[in-house]
Amino acid sequence: MSMTFAGQVALVTGGAAGIGRATALAFAAEGLKVVVADRDAAGGEATATLIRQAGGEALCVACDVTQERDVRQLHEQVIAAYGRLDYAFNNAGIEIEQGRLAEGSEAQFDAIMSVNVKGVWLCMKHQIPLLLAQGGGVIVNTASVAGLSAAPKMSIYAASKHAVIGLTKSAAIEYAKKGIRVNAVCPAVIDTDMFRRAYEADPRKAEFAAAMHPVGRIGKVEEIASAVLYLCSDGAAFTTGHSLTVDGGALAI
Ligand code: NAD
Repeated sequence: MSMTFAGQVALVTGGAAGIGRATALAFAAEGLKVVVADRDAAGGEATATLIRQAGGEALCVACDVTQERDVRQLHEQVIAAYGRLDYAFNNAGIEIEQGRLAEGSEAQFDAIMSVNVKGVWLCMKHQIPLLLAQGGGVIVNTASVAGLSAAPKMSIYAASKHAVIGLTKSAAIEYAKKGIRVNAVCPAVIDTDMFRRAYEADPRKAEFAAAMHPVGRIGKVEEIASAVLYLCSDGAAFTTGHSLTVDGGALAI
């Protein structure tokens, strides 16, 4: 795998925590300038500070990915600060305890779809013209194993992540001849705040989560970050429209 990232520019949404923070740090460790975008401005600034303390270059932009005005301003700030965008990791997402399908509420549906689907769509909508103008680039969207299979008691989340894969494949085909690759990363259960919130209330759920992965444990944020960097690298030059599971074998069962 050829990592030819030095001096290039990466954008990470949901970069204040979890998978986004780990990926922002991984990009920075490869010599990229990193724009950390999150609605949690303090958390995003903390990620940018970690990058700078390690000798890297980072900018934090407060952004709610559900608001087009925020997303437009985010991309204007990327260009104002660094003059270009090479890699975009559209990762901001939420999960809300839903129960079975008939127990979900309209508010839950709107909230999950707004961040997980509209947010990814808006980000790609504002990234693609920048990538076209400079002759190419790479987009990676965070879907989930719930974008490829059933997710009982998480049906709205599963629908949102299936939609992310639909957006990913469609954009990949539309821009394949324009030098833009678009892929999705599909984690199973990863040890982040999102996971802890879901399993905190009932420790038995944590044991169940570990057992659902054939490797016998949940995943680490760094294991998603390295998959994202691979998809961005020249080593993945022939890979587009792909949904890469990083799931300890969960979907192979
Ligand atoms: P997390 O809650 O630790 O981090 C998510 C980040 O997204 C937070 O910093 C949050 O502030 C930000 N965010 C949420 N809504 C936003 C909005 N409207 N605008 C901007 N930022 C917003 O979660 P995580 O586990 O790191 O999840 C990252 C992504 O990975 C999500 O898309 C999630 O669905 C996906 N995912 C997570 C898991 C898991 O087990 N943790 C598994 C599969 C997929």
